[in-house]
Amino acid sequence: MTPLLKVSSLQVWYGAVQAVRGIDIEVQEGEIVAFLGANGAGKSSTLNAIAGLVPASEGKIEFSGRDVTDLAPEALTPMGLALSPEGRRVFPALSVSENLLMGAYSVKDKQAIAAAWDRVYSLFPILHERKDQLAGTLSGGQQQMLAVGRALMSGPKLLLLDEPSLGLAPKIVEQIFELITILRDQKVTIALVEQNVAKSLEIADRGYIIAGGQVVGQGRVEDLRSQGGLEETFLGA
Ligand code: ATP
Repeated sequence: MTPLLKVSSLQVWYGAVQAVRGIDIEVQEGEIVAFLGANGAGKSSTLNAIAGLVPASEGKIEFSGRDVTDLAPEALTPMGLALSPEGRRVFPALSVSENLLMGAYSVKDKQAIAAAWDRVYSLFPILHERKDQLAGTLSGGQQQMLAVGRALMSGPKLLLLDEPSLGLAPKIVEQIFELITILRDQKVTIALVEQNVAKSLEIADRGYIIAGGQVVGQGRVEDLRSQGGLEETFLGA
């Protein structure tokens, strides 16, 4: 079966700094795939290259069987690929509903936008309650929900989630991970970058361990869990 996402020999350089050193990954439709690794391992650079935010210096990125290596985010979003970036980058001076609307910029049909709003509000009732509130006044957890909700507004087939649980209270972390499984049940395929190894291995189907810009381990989560000592060995914990 053609994978929904296939990344081959990806390299990302920032000037003279090489962040990604030849990464190969595949994500099949319907999976949750976790990318685990210490700070600076190259996980965000990999996701950002897939999303078209940083150029792939070498290698190939295929989405739904199409070569998308050189496509910009504006071209990728209508194809069904969306990123919720690290650090909950919401627009603080816009309301919740306006932030969500920004995520639907590729959707032209008004009814489709209304349906996307409804879908996000049913996933995150708190965003509905606060729809007219400025995003900058939301709590950290609510801003994270808004960042994920905004990515969902374009109706992605593949959602790239960069550190959705970072810095959030345990109860909110539980909600975010539960939401990820709900999205999978709604047929959204998910590539998840996370520092929370234990929770990621609970919900993911497969995982890749990234260190020094390379894949240093991969497998089904049962196998990764049974390796034990994962955090100490690979993640610098
Ligand atoms: P984190 O969880 O801290 O974001 P990460 O695994 O996602 O870690 P990246 O953010 O991809 O790692 O960073 C990989 C390497 O590239 C690091 O050494 C980082 O310092 C470097 N790097 C990342 N972004 C840039 C940039 N814009 N300019 C220069 N170097 C960068």
